[in-house]
Amino acid sequence: MQDIKELSLKELEERLLSWGSPKYHAKQIFAWIYQKGACEFSSMSDLPVPLRKNLDNKFYILGLELADLQKSSDGTIKFLFELNDGNLIEAVNIPVAKRTPGLIGEAGARRCAVTGCVSSQAGCKFACEFCASGLKGFKRNLTSGEILDEVLYLKNNLRATQLTHVVFMGTGEPLDNYDNVLKAVRIINSAVAFNIGARRITISTCGVIPGIKRLQEEDLQVELSISLHAAEDKLRSKIMPVNQKYPLADLIKCCHEYIDRTNRQITFEYILVKGLNSDLLSAQKLVMLLKDLRLAKVNLIPANPIPKSKIIPPSASEVESFKDYLFKAGVNVTLRRERGQDIDAACGQLRVKYEQD
Ligand code: SAH
Repeated sequence: MQDIKELSLKELEERLLSWGSPKYHAKQIFAWIYQKGACEFSSMSDLPVPLRKNLDNKFYILGLELADLQKSSDGTIKFLFELNDGNLIEAVNIPVAKRTPGLIGEAGARRCAVTGCVSSQAGCKFACEFCASGLKGFKRNLTSGEILDEVLYLKNNLRATQLTHVVFMGTGEPLDNYDNVLKAVRIINSAVAFNIGARRITISTCGVIPGIKRLQEEDLQVELSISLHAAEDKLRSKIMPVNQKYPLADLIKCCHEYIDRTNRQITFEYILVKGLNSDLLSAQKLVMLLKDLRLAKVNLIPANPIPKSKIIPPSASEVESFKDYLFKAGVNVTLRRERGQDIDAACGQLRVKYEQD
C-alpha cells in the first residue's frame, strides 16, 4: 500500500494512464482529497466504481493518528500525531484576526484566517539550545505525504475559518528534508489541491546554506525565514551548533545572493532571551550584521520558557527598548505576539512532555 499523497498530479496522471484510465481523473482525485477532505476512495462519487476499487487496493489516503490535542484560550490548537511507525510529530493551528477590506467597525467585519504550523521531520538534528524539538534527537525525515497529512488535518479541523497560511516552523529543519518539503509545498500551492498562494507559505531555516541556494533557483515565490537569534558567531555557535558549519559571514553572503536572485525579502527570526541576547549591545550587533541587506525584516519573539533551562523572556520594557533600537536604526522590525503559551506551543514542547509521561 502506498500513500497517494506522495504522488504529484503528474505522477498520478501517469499512474492512471498506465492502468488504462483517462488522466483527467487525477484532478478529480486531488480535489476529493485536498479540497473536499475525502478520506475514502469509495466516497469519490464521480469516479467509475472499478477505478475507485483499484485505487483502494493500491493506495491509502490518511497516514496520521491523533495522539493528543491541546486548546489554548487564545484559539491556538496544538495537535500531536502518531505516524505509521510510532514516531510523534506536532502541528499547530494559529488563528489570526483579520479585517475584511472595505468594512469598518464591529458589524461583523472580522473574519478569521488561520496559519497552520507544520513539522518537516520527526525530531531534529540541529539541537538549538532554546528549542525543545531537538531534545530527543533526530528520528527521520517526514515523507511529502506525511507533511500533507498534517495540512489536511489542520484544514479539516476548521469550521467557520479557513486555512490561509502554512509555515514550516514545527519540528525539524525543512531545508534538511529538501525534496519532500518542496514536493509538499507544490501541492499546498497547487490550484487543484490546497490552493494556498506561495507567498502565504513560509519555509523557516536555522541557516542551512545549501538549501537556501537551492530554494532561490525554484520557480516558487515562497517566503523565507531565517532563525538567527544571535548576531555574533561566538554566541550563535553556542546556542545554535549549526553556526559552526555555516557561520554568520557565509550565511549573510548567501542571503545577499538570495535577495539579488529572487528580489524577495528575508525575515530574520530573533528570540529574545533574558541575559543572553536581549541587551542593547546585541541590538547594535544585529543592526550592523543586517545593515547592507536590501530586503530584510526582523521578527522579535520573546522566548517561550523551556522548563529546567535558563531560557526565559526579558521584561516587557527590555523587549520594547530592543525593538525601539532597531526601529530607530531603520530596521524593518515586528514583535511577534506569543501564542498558545498556556499549551506548550513552543517548538517541540508537547511532544517532549508526552514522551516523558
Ligand atoms: N528548523 C527550522 C524550523 C523550526 S522553527 C528553523 O530553525 O527555523 C524554529 C522557530 O521556532 C524559531 O525561529 C522560533 O521562532 C521558534 N521557537 C523555538 N523555540 C522557541 C522558544 N523557546 N521560544 C519561542 N520561540 C521558539
